[in-house]
Amino acid sequence: MRQQIAAANWKMNLTYQQGEQLLDAILKENIALADHQAAVFAVPFPYLMMASQKLSGRTNYYVSAQNCSDVKAGAYTGEVSAEMLKSINIGYCVLGHSERREYFSERNQSLAQKVQLCLDNGITPIFCCGESLSIREVGAQEGFVETQLMESLFHFSEADIRKIVIAYEPIWAIGTGKTATAAQAQEMHAHIRHLFAKKYNKATADHIPILYGGSVKAANAMELFHSPDVDGGLVGGASLVATEFISIIRALK
Ligand code: PGA
Repeated sequence: MRQQIAAANWKMNLTYQQGEQLLDAILKENIALADHQAAVFAVPFPYLMMASQKLSGRTNYYVSAQNCSDVKAGAYTGEVSAEMLKSINIGYCVLGHSERREYFSERNQSLAQKVQLCLDNGITPIFCCGESLSIREVGAQEGFVETQLMESLFHFSEADIRKIVIAYEPIWAIGTGKTATAAQAQEMHAHIRHLFAKKYNKATADHIPILYGGSVKAANAMELFHSPDVDGGLVGGASLVATEFISIIRALK
């Protein structure tokens, strides 16, 4: 079975102390993860070390950054490089979240650089894609997501592409309480997998985890994750509440 992932995306929320309390409350449950399951915590940069320390010694629990620079190193005040993340053993990095695309002008080409730098440093990119409401309303979502994947990912080798995790996050479902139905999520995930099969091959497409993101919560996680092509979730709001995220981890296939 391919990897199934419950990924928390804290975004720019919680103080350090609140972050510690949240992790403690979740870890207290001692949820045992199967070999094919992972719980990932994408925390703000200043909390990466703290989260790593709390998760150390646990199997299949990982810390993730929420972004990294698209350049290697140098005079880029305020930026954090993939190499820096590697130097503190961070395993994952969320890339191309729609909030970064919208508010920080991230473009597909620059995201391709970020993916490359993460791969060069042994960090698994959680690459986000997904369409806005206006694109969905005219039925253009499949082509839109295809362009995102084509311009950021499809030049990578088969060996590299197998190291990537995809998160499909329809923008109209993020933070809105309006979740895609399990059928809508499954339809797009199957389409994304088909695109990878077309570009690479079926075995590679079948290997890549595709997470769903957008108002995932305890009450809908099980149904969403039950769909054959939905391999877990990237969770914002509900990941800030211990009981919610605990249920979401437990809902993994
Ligand atoms: P949400 O955010 O779960 O609050 O909708 C998901 C995300 O943006 O990753």
